[in-house]
Amino acid sequence: MQVLKFGGTSLLDAENILKASDIIAKAVERDRTIVVASAIGGCTDSLIEVGNMAAAHDGSFSDILDKIRARHHKIIRSLLPIEKHEESLEACDKVMDSIKGIAQGVYLLGELSTTSLDAIQGCGELLSSQILATKMASIGIPTKWVDSREIIRTRSDGTHNVVDTETTYANITAMIENNPIKSLFIVPGFIASDEKGRMVTLGRGGSDYSASLYAVGSKARNLETWKDVPGMMTADPKIVPEASLIEHISYRAALELSHFGAKVIFPPTIQPVVSERIPILVKCTFDPDGPGTVIEQNPPRGKNRSKIIGISNSDKIALLSLEGSGMVGVPGFSYRLFQTLSENDISIILITQASSVNTMCVAVAESDAEKAREAADKCFAYEISLGKLNPLKVETGFSIVCLVGDDIINQRGTMGRMLAALGDRSIGVRAVAQGSSERNISVIISSDDVRPAIKYIHAEFFEKSPYKDINLFIAGYGTVGRALLDIIARKRGEIAERTGKRIHVAGLSNSRKFILDREGLSLDDIDRQLASGHPAANEAFFEALSKTSLQNSVFVDCTGSSDISYKYLNLFEKGYSVVASNKITFAAPYSQYKALKTAAVENGVSLKYETTVGAALPILESISRSVNSGDTILKVDAVLSGTMNFIFSSYAGGSDGRTFAEVVRTAQEKGYSEPDPRLDLSGRDVLRKLLILAREAGVPLDEADVKITPALGDEFFKGKVPEFFEKLAAAEPEFAASYKAAADKGLRQRFLASLVRNGDGTYTAKMGLQEVGPGNPLYNLSGTDNCAIITTEFYPSPLVVQGAGAGAYQTASGVLNDILI
Ligand code: ADP
Ligand code: ASP
Ligand code: MG
Repeated sequence: MQVLKFGGTSLLDAENILKASDIIAKAVERDRTIVVASAIGGCTDSLIEVGNMAAAHDGSFSDILDKIRARHHKIIRSLLPIEKHEESLEACDKVMDSIKGIAQGVYLLGELSTTSLDAIQGCGELLSSQILATKMASIGIPTKWVDSREIIRTRSDGTHNVVDTETTYANITAMIENNPIKSLFIVPGFIASDEKGRMVTLGRGGSDYSASLYAVGSKARNLETWKDVPGMMTADPKIVPEASLIEHISYRAALELSHFGAKVIFPPTIQPVVSERIPILVKCTFDPDGPGTVIEQNPPRGKNRSKIIGISNSDKIALLSLEGSGMVGVPGFSYRLFQTLSENDISIILITQASSVNTMCVAVAESDAEKAREAADKCFAYEISLGKLNPLKVETGFSIVCLVGDDIINQRGTMGRMLAALGDRSIGVRAVAQGSSERNISVIISSDDVRPAIKYIHAEFFEKSPYKDINLFIAGYGTVGRALLDIIARKRGEIAERTGKRIHVAGLSNSRKFILDREGLSLDDIDRQLASGHPAANEAFFEALSKTSLQNSVFVDCTGSSDISYKYLNLFEKGYSVVASNKITFAAPYSQYKALKTAAVENGVSLKYETTVGAALPILESISRSVNSGDTILKVDAVLSGTMNFIFSSYAGGSDGRTFAEVVRTAQEKGYSEPDPRLDLSGRDVLRKLLILAREAGVPLDEADVKITPALGDEFFKGKVPEFFEKLAAAEPEFAASYKAAADKGLRQRFLASLVRNGDGTYTAKMGLQEVGPGNPLYNLSGTDNCAIITTEFYPSPLVVQGAGAGAYQTASGVLNDILI
């Protein structure tokens, strides 16, 4: 004998029932079979609604009944052969009419007793099992439909209805013996009858329990329960698509998982089959050949089988806290609380007690919370009136998430990993319980966090990803920010393959709006997303970031903002690394720069800003590598302004017919310079870069330490831009003369920043126009290129880094490199 149970989703509609009937037909070829049917998917919920509406004097319960009737009629018409239609429709209507009769009674009385509710909610199984039996008989299988109310009997144990197993098993044996020629029995799950012969139910999900009773009563070889999932999984696949199948699991572990919410097995189910050691197979109706899960006493131990088995959750949890100074040192409070809860039939799901003895906290089902409040406040009325205890504090909206495994307590670090998986993603844990059994660690969290919490814990224990996830929070959506997002959107797959680092953009802000998503923003249509984002005013983005710490978080500063560096400090404290293309911070007074560097080290995060000098050219990196590896920088000569280089390498002293003013105009028109070219020609930008470069070499340089020879005299910096161009034109003879003086010596003019080590170990920094000869790499430097010539003690023949020193994509790629280091 074998027992097969089909859940509601497996019997959702004619199509699914047809799949189930194929499975049953094959099973019957192997052995005599009892099939336990649930109601068709959603039917029990609808029937309960009918009961509640009727009790609330809401006459539209009959609309719902009509819908239930229509669903069954439709199934009958499309599943059964035509000659069975009339009889089946009639049988269906008979059940529906009886429900309607009861519901009308409830409507008149305005009260829904347990008896009436059971009489209504249990009917879904009557309907589905009758249809299924007719279907199986119609394909030629000797089938008998048996009413479970005549088989499964309950009795009262004083307070509750419990299954009278002795009578039930005897009834099952009789059912089989009295029908020797039947190879298939089809019975409704969920329902039974009490001592008075009234219909009762076995509780939500109770068809599993029915199946288990039939399995024990018929001494079945095994119990198959057919579901819409491949079997018991490491987590609910509806929450974690990556969940994997558990092929073998012990009764105890399965019970533990189910107890805390994995709906696969209704916990009482297991009890009867465990005592008889009947294995339970969880199978998938939509993939009948899949392996499914075997739940048994001693599952085989696979070679690499993890001791961590799965994660589950139960929702609608209330926390009850008993607090007050009167508890300190006085024994008996917990006993009294537990006793009063137990007397009121409230089961405690979990207990935690803070180390401070004046509070204790228990978790119960939300539906019991008010009852618990009344009971506790009554029980402790005296202490409350004296002010020694506070009235019971009741908080709702919690869920329990639990990690189940064998011998989990003795596996070092499990609890830490579980809490870190949540903490690293800012999921607050309200209470933790370990030790209630050796098999689970439970945390209580806000119900809003359940889905991400389960995903993170699952990823920590079950998804050995070869990738490290990097979460970016980008400030600045100008040319660099856009280019960065564009590169990430197009190349992140490749980047992950090459570097093992998976980039997620978790936040983005421009000066007006910001968007944030812990799971990673979709990179399509960023402009639209940003436009409908949160207002970024008043540092809202930074405030949100400080509440959103994720693992491997990097704040990316692509702004040009000058007041951002103190924000870096906050971000470091929250665990963010910083990558910046914004140079202002790093050229601030040395003390500020130094404080920032120190804070990054103290917080164990990194601070990178390669693109502040020469865009993606590895200038800073080359310098810091030398210094970090014990080398000494002797000299750096660098052209650090693409604009300046364009101007000085294009100008030919007028020999090609272009004046200096015209060359500057071209730079302006091509967008190589700022709209006011004097911002470039002032050398301010070069000065900042020189400071950063020198500091990278370990030289604590400040602005005042740099000897600056400006490219243009003071008079050029007065007045508006057009006036400036006039002055330039007027000064052409001087530019031409200075050009010629160099050219006559075979030299060229370049705007150079240099850092030179003196004999006493100090450094001299200067910037200004210099003449360079053909032996110097800068002699042939053309266009907007940058170049740094780095001479060190170990490399007297210098390292030359040359290439584009600006550009949105160049800078963005440099930023990305910093992110990936
Ligand atoms: P039935 O249709 O047999 O009544 P249920 O709907 O009661 O089945 O339970 C099956 C559901 O349980 C699945 O659809 C799945 O979403 C959920 N579930 C929760 N936890 C797990 C888990 N660990 N493994 C598989 N399914 C799970
Ligand atoms: N139909 C009942 C319910 O939904 C019993 C079951 O399916 O197990 O709870
Ligand atoms: Mg179920």
